[in-house]
Amino acid sequence: MAKNSKCNFCGRTNKDAKLMVTGFDACICNFCVEAAHDAVQGELVKDDAFDMKGKSIPKPREIKTFLDQYVIGQDAAKRFLSVAVYNHYKRISQKTDVEDVEIEKSNIILVGATGTGKTLLARTIAKKLHVPFTIVDATVLTEAGYVGEDIEGILTRLLQAADYNVKVAEQGIVFIDEIDKIARKGDNPSITRDVSGEGVQQGLLKLLEGAVVNVPPQGGRKHPEQKFIPVNTQNVLFICGGAFDGIEKRIANRLNTNVVGFSSNNQITFDRNNMMKYIAPQDLKAFGLIPEIIGRLPVLTYLEPLDREALRRILTEPKNSIIKQYVKLFKMDNVDLSFDDEVLEYIVDKAIEYKLGARGLRAIVETVMTDAMFDIPSEHQDKLNIDLNYTKERIEHSATRLLA
Ligand code: ADP
Repeated sequence: MAKNSKCNFCGRTNKDAKLMVTGFDACICNFCVEAAHDAVQGELVKDDAFDMKGKSIPKPREIKTFLDQYVIGQDAAKRFLSVAVYNHYKRISQKTDVEDVEIEKSNIILVGATGTGKTLLARTIAKKLHVPFTIVDATVLTEAGYVGEDIEGILTRLLQAADYNVKVAEQGIVFIDEIDKIARKGDNPSITRDVSGEGVQQGLLKLLEGAVVNVPPQGGRKHPEQKFIPVNTQNVLFICGGAFDGIEKRIANRLNTNVVGFSSNNQITFDRNNMMKYIAPQDLKAFGLIPEIIGRLPVLTYLEPLDREALRRILTEPKNSIIKQYVKLFKMDNVDLSFDDEVLEYIVDKAIEYKLGARGLRAIVETVMTDAMFDIPSEHQDKLNIDLNYTKERIEHSATRLLA
């Protein structure tokens, strides 16, 4: 640092600055360096974060191919999502010409049983697009004044995921899980506290529609002194997910009612084993979502239940499949880990038997591998093959824990 220097940008002397960087015949203080950094970042975000000229927006097929690497099956959902996400980011990249046709925002709703890959799909999309991503459980959302998380808290998390870069956060993706649980319940035991009811839905609606929301950067009400940051949700993509238990029956009922009156040669035949594929927005109404919310989730798609074959594929096929992760963990100790095929079949059988679905696969593999993970790093061994006997012993030993 030069003595008696003065910042050529703001005029501060080195007494007022913490650091003065000197060049050939100019100086800049730490404050101006920071301001310049912010300005550059801001510009880069505007131009590059999501290349607004449309060049770097992946095409739907490319998005789907990427999803295929991580998510097994769920073709319908992948196609819908790929198109919706592509359109969403095309919409953001459009030039705001007053005369022009304005493309409306299309938030997405995924309907499917728990553990079928809804969160995984949303998370993988965010990974592909390099945008901040956050998951919120709708059941903890409350109206201001009640214990739980405020609606604005959703955006606090998005801001945090974007390292507080508001422009980046404003192009992020929010996954709202269990959207079917915020429905207004007719038999709500408390009349004064409709905590999970319409108020929350109205709040959520504001976000879905695209509004400027004042967001507490630290979240919650524990930091009353914090300054609110205005965040515009106009370009935030909301993906909602829910199991909507019993929806298949509703779909069937609607279809049965609608076909009454058709003449026999006009009869439509439905695939009774997969009613989900006929899902329509009106089927969601019975779950208490206000029509405005349903209207703001125009892309509606479904996930299929995972059958035995899908579970088997999930174990080994995805790019970061459970088995691949364990192989890598062992590789770091220079041990070649392998599994007999019948072990993998057995693990799938147990996941089905214990009704654990895809989520259970990890718990089961973890149970099988714990002893080996404890011992192997201290032993001089360069190979480990897991066979059926070894697996059975460990699973049977821990069956009660897995069942719990
Ligand atoms: P949901 O959100 O539908 O309840 P998740 O996406 O959280 O389900 O799935 C739970 C876990 O199960 C995921 O982390 C993933 O390991 C696995 N999984 C579920 N469905 C799939 C799928 N279709 N392909 C690959 N893995 C899956």
